[in-house]
Amino acid sequence: MWRAFGNPPWLNPDQDCIGLQMQQQARKNLRLLLYLLFYFIAILFWGKEIQIAEYAGDTTAMHKFLGQHPEPPYPSQASITTAMQVFQIKKSPRCKYPQFKRDVFDRGQTIFGGLLWQGIVLIGPPAFSSWGMLGSTLAHEIEVHCNQNHLFYTAIDMIGLDGHRFAEEAAYGYEISNAKRFGLNPFEMSEIEATVAELLPRRSFLYSLVVGD
Ligand SMILES: [Zn+2]
Repeated sequence: MWRAFGNPPWLNPDQDCIGLQMQQQARKNLRLLLYLLFYFIAILFWGKEIQIAEYAGDTTAMHKFLGQHPEPPYPSQASITTAMQVFQIKKSPRCKYPQFKRDVFDRGQTIFGGLLWQGIVLIGPPAFSSWGMLGSTLAHEIEVHCNQNHLFYTAIDMIGLDGHRFAEEAAYGYEISNAKRFGLNPFEMSEIEATVAELLPRRSFLYSLVVGD
């Protein structure tokens, strides 16, 4: 009786094999669909990407403050609030207000990830070496990283093209082109340049494409 219709699928090894192939194909299609969805969302959230321009506002009050405060700021949340006001750093809607964190070993960190709708900006003790460095660090994290589209950079990373390296190059490049605004001295400038040389020994493809060498 079974013979007339062939073996039932659970007895037929070929049938099983076809089932497996269909499963694999379905999984491949699903993966492709997820990738496409990811790129679509990434492009949808395309932000203000290139932020390497110099600050266009009035820096008189900033320089006056720097002249009156040659001593480094006390590492605290209050100093962050002061620096945000003095250097006219606007809080980005894409990040929460910057937080002082004693155990952060970098000057600053911006964390985007998972389902975080808003990024988290953490400022560590090394940022408090001078008021200018604190301002420059806040600008790096808030004026650059918070306005970047990290989903897009992840998409670029996934095709092997250093998206996040570019994000970092843009942030340090911004600090260097805004050195005058923050009254950075030559020692501080060379410190930033040394960090760039150490972290980013070669230009990313995106940077040479968009900014040039
Ligand atoms: Zn950075």
